[in-house]
Amino acid sequence: MITILQGGRIIDPSTSRDEFADLWMENGVVIAPGTDVPEEARIYDVKGKWVLPGLIDMHVHLRDPGLEYKENIRTGTDAAAAGGFTAVACMPNTDPVNDNSSVTRYILEKSGGCNARVYPVGAISKGLAGESLAEYAEMKAAGAVAVTDDGMPVISSQLMRRAMEYASSHELLVISHCEEYSLSRNGCMNEGVVSTRLGLKGIPVAAEIIMVQREIALAELTGASVHISHVSCRGSLEAIRIAKQKGLRVSAETAPHYFTLTEEAVTGYDTNARMYPPLRTEDDRQAIREALADGTLDAIATDHAPHNIVEKEVEFDSAANGIVGLESSLALSMQLVRDGLIDEARLIELMSCNPAKLLSVAGGTLRDGAVADITVIDPECEYTFELDKTLSRGKNSPFAGWNLQGAAVLTFLAGEKRFDRSEFDW
Ligand SMILES: [Zn+2]
Repeated sequence: MITILQGGRIIDPSTSRDEFADLWMENGVVIAPGTDVPEEARIYDVKGKWVLPGLIDMHVHLRDPGLEYKENIRTGTDAAAAGGFTAVACMPNTDPVNDNSSVTRYILEKSGGCNARVYPVGAISKGLAGESLAEYAEMKAAGAVAVTDDGMPVISSQLMRRAMEYASSHELLVISHCEEYSLSRNGCMNEGVVSTRLGLKGIPVAAEIIMVQREIALAELTGASVHISHVSCRGSLEAIRIAKQKGLRVSAETAPHYFTLTEEAVTGYDTNARMYPPLRTEDDRQAIREALADGTLDAIATDHAPHNIVEKEVEFDSAANGIVGLESSLALSMQLVRDGLIDEARLIELMSCNPAKLLSVAGGTLRDGAVADITVIDPECEYTFELDKTLSRGKNSPFAGWNLQGAAVLTFLAGEKRFDRSEFDW
């Protein structure tokens, strides 16, 4: 059966395509449009909409196995689809930790039939304990696409060096959560005038920058591919920019909260403004925006980190780190286009093409024969972001009640419709 998305604006940076045209798919892949529309074709009218390679979020916490009271693979992928994502990479800090092939296999089995593809990311170290390397060969064979100890820094530089060498020999990307723990421990927000005013212990930007610089030095030493997670500040970007100029295999992502909010969001002690790294200053926010435009940053990821309400409805300094992001990321990122900072093609590179390349997974393109993972967006759709309508089990978002513009209206996975906004009363 042929499916046709009719009359939309097809934007595919992988082929430098931006035009009003019909998109055809059959047997799970994109095909060249025929001259006549077959009688039995399934047709979707997408006039006024954007037709894009499916969005890919390379940094998501699905909390499954073991922490399903926060989220599970089903609810997390439903939230992903509603946010326009056809694929997510899930972090290994579950219980048990994804540091071996049986957990990797569990995640892939459980994600079968879900509304977004799930790419498991294995742990760098066993149990995220930072002492010995996890089983990379085994995890890779089971389907892991990268390794990280996300949520925890790898304190030992020697272990990180060995992780890069080992990961590199198995063609696995090393993703680094950059945190110099002796500087960050006990802190709960950015260190600066706001933390002083609020009487909260701060985390200096140096806690992030030092580790970014270490990872760059180790990438140079080992020749490995290293990806810096959730970049939040100007100093990290300056280091990454130089590393790229030197030709090192260093890439980086940021998250919508870092280009949308500043440390001022903590005023009022809103625990939904608490995450690691913390929200920074307006100068840092501007630096992130420039780096998204100039190519220093490669991807927008959400760091979707659902928590139970009891972990957030506590005093600021004892609240859990992290916010949900899958269902607000697209609209917040589209704001960058409306602000004139980046164009539509660059947005799609950041949210689809580049994540596919970095993780070496399918998607990120609409060329003929490519897997038909597709996101259709209504760029004009305006709505209030209401947490009682979100599909994630986590309700910890600082964007609750915000008026947003831009939403996914349809997603397809291998040509099959997986999300249809018209079926929800949004
Ligand atoms: Zn992290």
